Amino acid sequence: MRRVTLLGATGSVGSSAVEVLQEGRERFAVHAVTANSDAAALAGIARRLRAERAVVADPAALAALRDALAGTGIEAAAGASAMQEAAGERVDVVLSAIVGAAGLAPTAAAVRAGSTIALANKECLVCAGPAFMALARRHGARILPVDSEHNALFQLIEGRDADEVSRFTITASGGPFRTWSAERLRRATPEEALAHPTWSMGPKISIDSATMMNKGLELIEAHHLFGLSPDRLDVLVHPQSIVHGLITFRDGSVHAEIGLADMKRPVSYCLNWPARGGCAARHLDLAAIGALTFERPDEARFPALALARSAMVHGSGAPTVLNAANELAVSAFLARRIPFTAIPETVARSLTEADRAGLLTEPETVEEAIGLDAAARDLAAQAVDNLAAIAS
Ligand code: NDP
Repeated sequence: MRRVTLLGATGSVGSSAVEVLQEGRERFAVHAVTANSDAAALAGIARRLRAERAVVADPAALAALRDALAGTGIEAAAGASAMQEAAGERVDVVLSAIVGAAGLAPTAAAVRAGSTIALANKECLVCAGPAFMALARRHGARILPVDSEHNALFQLIEGRDADEVSRFTITASGGPFRTWSAERLRRATPEEALAHPTWSMGPKISIDSATMMNKGLELIEAHHLFGLSPDRLDVLVHPQSIVHGLITFRDGSVHAEIGLADMKRPVSYCLNWPARGGCAARHLDLAAIGALTFERPDEARFPALALARSAMVHGSGAPTVLNAANELAVSAFLARRIPFTAIPETVARSLTEADRAGLLTEPETVEEAIGLDAAARDLAAQAVDNLAAIAS
């Protein structure tokens, strides 16, 4: 039996993981499942997976969690230290699927315990890339990428010499606004931005897909995960989301990983690694798909991608500030405080202010990255207020 902990069990990736774990219940034993505040959903998952422990980050949700688990023998807990404790218990695999920078501390606790990390929470690498990877090396914790594009690259280079690869390409669907004009983008609503054409995902990453910030965050993720210089990383827009990643060898040969847009596939890959488990991800019928198309990203209409790329090249805390400002801006857009095009504008202003305030230095530890994230949020809140005032 493989012992597994599921951080962010109630989310979109979490739901894929619940299905994979249920299908493979003879191979997996679940230690802990966690959520932020959705006690009812978490209790349902804990029962279905026969978890030992269920933890909510929000202490106000503990009473509801206890009630929902009464008589099951499943332990209920709440709060930041309970999350750390659950994540920090050594198991075979911890699936890190909390959304945002909130995932840093629990995932770092899992790394310190030396558990293998199936990493969906890209913010660990975006906000604290060098510190997080150094921590993993120090504690002998293996990082397996769940993000579909990185999972594709991981599968493609497994057992190969990465030095033989000249280019690593991740694909982007282009999001719901791929063909929209700059003028139309200014008037985009949260409902329109949330309607992703190919993937079903949580709200934060759906908005990031619409701005293409998600692909920028993924470049930074790949940079740290695989230790690649920025000039070896590329983005290709591929609206069908069938090809997830490609590697170009020195001799010009290109290998691609392809499959339907279903997170159960990379989740199953990471939970079963190095074996391959059977999973109920839908199978690909290329004849039914017919055509696969590719185009270059348009960084004039989607400036978030260029912002993320330059933060990656700059390093020294710029990706941490970029991510924090983007999280705040996405929330403000969803709350209808700022227009869609003010999201990258908030990020750009926050980076300028952070530079001016002397904040752009590389976080040496995950804790320093969490500190920089907090400082960047203060700057971003100011930028959001100013942009909201202009918009009203
Ligand atoms: P969701 O918003 O669907 O789910 C987020 C999960 O995190 C929920 O379980 C939520 O609990 C929990 N959570 C939220 N805030 C906190 C907090 N402060 N402390 C502890 N737990 C918290 O997100 P996704 O599943 O879409 O994404 C999760 C991560 O995976 C992100 O980093 C994303 O970029 C990455 N990813 C997602 C993909 C996808 O297809 N969705 C694909 C590849 C990567 P509650 O339900 O109680 O709010």
